[in-house]
Amino acid sequence: MLLGAVADDLTGATDLSLTLSREGMKTVQVVGVPGGPGEFGDAEAVVVALKSRTIKAVDAVSQSIASAERLLDAGARQLVFKYCSTFDSTDEGNIGPVTEALLQLLGDTATIACPAFPTNGRSVYQGHLFVGDRLLSESPMKDHPLTPMRDSDLVRVLQRQTKIGVSLIPLKIVSARASAIASALKERRGIVVVDAVSDADLRAIGEAAATLKLVTGGSGIALGLPENFRRAGLLPPRPAGTGFSAPAGGAVILSGSCSQQTRRQVEVAITGGLRSIKVDPVAIADGSMTADAAVAFVAADPGEKPPLVYSSADPAAVKAAQETLGKAHAGTIVEEFLAEVATRLADKGFSRFIVAGGETSGAVVAALGVRAFEIGPEIDPGVPWVLSRGAERPVAMALKSGNFGSDDFFLKAWEHLQ
Ligand code: ADP
Repeated sequence: MLLGAVADDLTGATDLSLTLSREGMKTVQVVGVPGGPGEFGDAEAVVVALKSRTIKAVDAVSQSIASAERLLDAGARQLVFKYCSTFDSTDEGNIGPVTEALLQLLGDTATIACPAFPTNGRSVYQGHLFVGDRLLSESPMKDHPLTPMRDSDLVRVLQRQTKIGVSLIPLKIVSARASAIASALKERRGIVVVDAVSDADLRAIGEAAATLKLVTGGSGIALGLPENFRRAGLLPPRPAGTGFSAPAGGAVILSGSCSQQTRRQVEVAITGGLRSIKVDPVAIADGSMTADAAVAFVAADPGEKPPLVYSSADPAAVKAAQETLGKAHAGTIVEEFLAEVATRLADKGFSRFIVAGGETSGAVVAALGVRAFEIGPEIDPGVPWVLSRGAERPVAMALKSGNFGSDDFFLKAWEHLQ
């Protein structure tokens, strides 16, 4: 193995795996802290998907360190810590504490932080994160159910999360390309936020990061890393591509994301003729909505088009549910519900799942007992179909981070499986 990565959620891990596989690295994604090198096969890159974005910082640190140790034991020469391109975190963490702990483990003094993902409209300029043409703090992320982002200044956000220094390499230096970035980096200690507004910027940053033991960022930060191994003669030139064959069986869409984009996708799917059932946390809590009812609805008439089970709701409805049930409980109750629906459907022979929402995907994958994936065809930027590896019942899944995918994602994703 050349590159090891720890991602703080499942859809983010998939997004990173896709980037690495597209750049020609044989990539395996493992769900949860790896058991040992046996799980990695002959992978050149291994991406560990944790569910550590919103857990306590101390737990996020211990899971990330345990994963990193397994990756290093298996020969990883460089580590990536992957988080969301919208920098989803709270003032307590977990991006700062995990970065700090990984740096310490690796015995290095500096790393970079760059969540930019220009293809999806995430750019960093003067240390400020933009979502499309809005500052992060004015984007729909300000209303995220678990990690509302109300400050766009990443140096400031990170400095609240960590004791080590945080500084900035601005676009002016990044535009002067890899050697300028590398020499700026040489003088820095701590976490260095790096501006990036294009893939060319990210590739230059990747090249400049060749000597760093730890790189942190969104999936875009990995664009330039495989080429470093190729330059060093460690990675053969290889066209990307996988032999992907989805198992036959029923198909369903489970959506627990409340992001603006997912809500739009739900609307377009329903208008486009998908049968749908809406669930909400209060109804689940008071027993008026049960997993039995949702499963019966899905299985009643599999039909031509896969049915949709969704809890996606607007910020006012999310707030109302959180006030009734408590913030954490409102989230968990939906995650557990959708995970149970998924396992019951798998028992009935369903083998093709689209899951919307990072946390939601984590819950569903864990419930299905899937431990590792291969990366398949890309549906939209950052969202591939994936195929379970070594699972008792093979499943094809598309795990969509809330903000990702075009409006007709739920309708068109299936075309790749024909
Ligand atoms: P995203 O990728 O959009 O961030 P996640 O699945 O990571 O989506 O997070 C969404 C969170 O909101 C989950 O914990 C989910 O269970 C919770 N949730 C889903 N529907 C509702 C709802 N109607 N009310 C309150 N919380 C909800």
